[in-house]
Amino acid sequence: MDVLKFGGSSVGNSENITKVMDILESYSKKGKVICVVSAIGGITDKLLNCGLLALNKNEDYITEFEAIKNIHFKILSELIQSGNEIAQDYLSSELNYLKNLLDGIFLINELTPKTSDKLVSFGELMSSFIITEALKTRGIDAVRKNSQELIVTNSMFTKADVNYLVTNKNIQDYFQESHRLTILPGFVSKSNIGEITTLGRGGSDFTASIIAAALRVKQLEIWTDVSGMYTANPKLVKQASPIEVLSYQEAMELSHFGAKVLFPPTIQPALDSEIPILIKNTLKPNDNGTLIKTQGNLGLRANVVSGISSVDNIALLTLQGNGMIGIPGFSKRLFEVLALEKINVIFITQASSEHSICFGISEYDAMLATTAVDEEFEYEISKRKIRPVTVEKDLSIVAVVGDNMKNHQGISGKMFSALGKNNINVRAIAQGASEKNISAVIFKKDVKKALNSLHETFFEVKTKQLNVFIAGVGNVGERLLSQIHQQSKFLKKELHINLRVIGISNSKKMVFDDDGIPLENWKELLSFGEPASLHSFLEKTTLLNKRNSIFIDITASESVSNMYAEYLKRSISVVACNKIACSSDYKNYQNLKDLAKKYNASFLFETNVGAGLPIIDTLNNLVASGDKITSIEAVLSGSLNFVFNNFNSSTKFHDVVKQAQAEGFTEPDPRIDLSGVDVARKILILARESGYEMNLDDIANKSFLTQANLKSDSVVDFYKTLIEDEKHFQDLFDSAQANDSQLKYVAQFNQGKANVALKEIPQGHPFYNLEGKDNIVMFYSQRYPEQPIIVKGAGAGAEVTASGLFADIIRVSNR
Ligand code: ADP
Ligand code: ASP
Ligand code: MG
Repeated sequence: MDVLKFGGSSVGNSENITKVMDILESYSKKGKVICVVSAIGGITDKLLNCGLLALNKNEDYITEFEAIKNIHFKILSELIQSGNEIAQDYLSSELNYLKNLLDGIFLINELTPKTSDKLVSFGELMSSFIITEALKTRGIDAVRKNSQELIVTNSMFTKADVNYLVTNKNIQDYFQESHRLTILPGFVSKSNIGEITTLGRGGSDFTASIIAAALRVKQLEIWTDVSGMYTANPKLVKQASPIEVLSYQEAMELSHFGAKVLFPPTIQPALDSEIPILIKNTLKPNDNGTLIKTQGNLGLRANVVSGISSVDNIALLTLQGNGMIGIPGFSKRLFEVLALEKINVIFITQASSEHSICFGISEYDAMLATTAVDEEFEYEISKRKIRPVTVEKDLSIVAVVGDNMKNHQGISGKMFSALGKNNINVRAIAQGASEKNISAVIFKKDVKKALNSLHETFFEVKTKQLNVFIAGVGNVGERLLSQIHQQSKFLKKELHINLRVIGISNSKKMVFDDDGIPLENWKELLSFGEPASLHSFLEKTTLLNKRNSIFIDITASESVSNMYAEYLKRSISVVACNKIACSSDYKNYQNLKDLAKKYNASFLFETNVGAGLPIIDTLNNLVASGDKITSIEAVLSGSLNFVFNNFNSSTKFHDVVKQAQAEGFTEPDPRIDLSGVDVARKILILARESGYEMNLDDIANKSFLTQANLKSDSVVDFYKTLIEDEKHFQDLFDSAQANDSQLKYVAQFNQGKANVALKEIPQGHPFYNLEGKDNIVMFYSQRYPEQPIIVKGAGAGAEVTASGLFADIIRVSNR
């Protein structure tokens, strides 16, 4: 004998019901089958909603009722095209009765738990009838049995307790002589005085388990819309996968803490009779599903943690005061009063100081609990021995579950460091002595991020997800996006990094995609995006609340750089190509570094100096390993190097600068490069990264430009003065040539002092042969006092700058 249960989504439409009938047909060929069905997907919610509307004198209840009616008639007519009069009559009379009930609620303005049970019972009663009739038209000998005639409960409406003695006997008696295929409505039952009761939301699973246990069948099958109990809710965690086997205890913990795929009380009858539960997918019947059985039979399992789950809408109540310390009986009174009010306590912690007890309950019970507890401790509160209960809302619980956790150290360490790294604040923690479950109370807004971070930690050791938000998609940004697009497969395969671009913004538009923007047509998507603003970009990034988020600034805008602090405060790493922040006031630079430390984020800006060359990284590695930088000598301007490499007696200075600008080697305003300001900013950043507190004013900058060049107040004017002062530049060139030297724009730092200047570099010096737009940096340190560490290579250009940004992104993932 097989006992199968099909949930609401499995019977949500005629197409799925056909799949259910196929499964039943093939099972019934092998032996007797008992099948429990839920209401058609969404109907229970609709019935309850109808009731509430009627209760509130809102006539929309009629529209909602019509919707319920139409859904049922539509499914019936799709399943049985002709000869469905019996079912039509049945549905009409049930729906009539339902409508009368709703009208009654509307008229008398009252919806008791008893009426509510009557109301929702229509869902399962109608679905089981339709399915049975549809099976019959297929020529299958199916019989419907109303489970209310078998399952007897007390009168605790909306979640009644089963009287097993009577129920088991009813079931055993009835199925002694059973049909080949019996269809029963789940969830519904009757009290011992004949009132309609229900077993609690999601209770059809329980109906099936009660029947399976009473008949001691070999296995109970729960058919649903997913392929088993997953490592985490697959609707929230994309990477989750079905768990092959679980113990009853693990399944109980997971379902108790929110894995809705199995209604928690379902497990008890199966466990008592040691009946394995198999969870299967109606839409993919060939998938293995999850098998739940006794702990001893599970075999060797690779994972210590079996699954992660979460429950929303939790309120945390705290009772505290010195009057509780060392005095027995407080907890007894507290939990007794909660039990009296039938409030389910989901979570308890008490610090060893006994100064406070903290417990988690459903948010819906919070008011009732507060009043009851405050009343119970009225005397102690009036004597100021304890304080009135405090309530916090908008919370959730995340739980990490596994039978084997007790034999392994460091699980909770891993759990809380994963939460901490992602800026998820933990309000309370509980771990049962059996160590099958570690749970944490967190803010509801963080649940998705928490589940994904924990899943990554415990199940995806091999892939790390990086979520990137890019501001600025000019030349460099465009290259970066195409590099990410090109490399994504390699990153996944070789480095186990899943890099996704979630947000892109230019100065006009911005676009987001929770699952990653398809990079083959980001330009088009961006052109249809919403209007851009720095604050809404931050807001959206914050709301998406993704783990391992990185904000990438590829603009040259001060206002963008002013936003870094906000990102870092939200534990979002910042990767900047823009050098304004790092060369701004020292306090601002230091503050950003401090924020990064405090909020466990990275703040990286390798491309501020030498584009993609690993200059800052080399410097950081020296400092981190205990070395001290004593001096730096460098050619740091790709643009000035280009200019002086191409300027000679047969070219004109003005023309060479124009060419550098046209080829994109200078800033939009070439004066920033030619005045030396850009180089000064770079050496400042290197000095700061070497541990020196300096500002831009501290960098001596003796310009090689003329007074007229410097005073020009527009780029056009500037170019005019370059033509007028051509002789000045030719003199500089001639002098260098006479001395057998090359002109190089050099930055120097030595023992806390720095300068930038145009220099004549003699033959034999490492700078002499520096070509094209190359950069070179020589680091002298305590470990490298005479022979410096030299980093040399292309120091400008969009492609190399983009690759420098890419390297920073990878660095963030490695931290
Ligand atoms: P049914 O209608 O079949 O009773 P439910 O909606 O009650 O189905 O339960 C199935 C749903 O449970 C899934 O669609 C999924 O969204 C949710 N769920 C939550 N946690 C888990 C989990 N750990 N594994 C599988 N499903 C889960
Ligand atoms: N129909 C009920 C509910 O939605 C019971 C069930 O489907 O298990 O809660
Ligand atoms: Mg369910």
